[in-house]
Amino acid sequence: MKAVYPGSFDPITYGHLDIIKRSLKYTDKLTIGVLNNPSKTSLFSAQERVNLIKELVKDLENVEVKHFDGLLVDFTRSEDSDVIIRGFRTVSDYEYELQMAHINYKLDDNIETIFMVAKNKYSYLSSSIVKDICKFGGDIQGFVPANVEKALKEKLFGGHNGR
Ligand code: ADP
Repeated sequence: MKAVYPGSFDPITYGHLDIIKRSLKYTDKLTIGVLNNPSKTSLFSAQERVNLIKELVKDLENVEVKHFDGLLVDFTRSEDSDVIIRGFRTVSDYEYELQMAHINYKLDDNIETIFMVAKNKYSYLSSSIVKDICKFGGDIQGFVPANVEKALKEKLFGGHNGR
């Protein structure tokens, strides 16, 4: 099974990484698709987000990281895949994820969306929460890998560490 795990990953967290590692048990090839959406403001550019993820998955076999724009179903097909993997954290994810899955079935009924439930310890974790905590000088070590922590601090505070 070739699958695509799409997202904004602005930036990638341990919660995303857990979904990546767990889904590799069921996939022959996984493409992490970083959405480059000009109408959505992101802290990191698509290329920066791709580079951060690449550093983290470089030792994993059969994983590729690419950015994409346009329709997810088109990107999925261009990866020669018919499976989209998404993660579920809380009930609040449900409505949005369900809507996206239905829209994607409408656009291409041959592409399946598969959901993985977040492990308890990551269910409260989101890119936005990590950005907020970092902005206010909180400790984000347990939430994101070291390269992401460094990049976040550089992006938010330039040469200063925020404290
Ligand atoms: P979006 O694609 O909606 O902008 P993200 O890039 O943050 O959202 O996440 C990509 C996918 O990973 C989504 O399906 C999201 O629900 C899931 N996800 C995000 N954070 C976690 C987490 N902590 N644990 C498990 N799944 C997560």
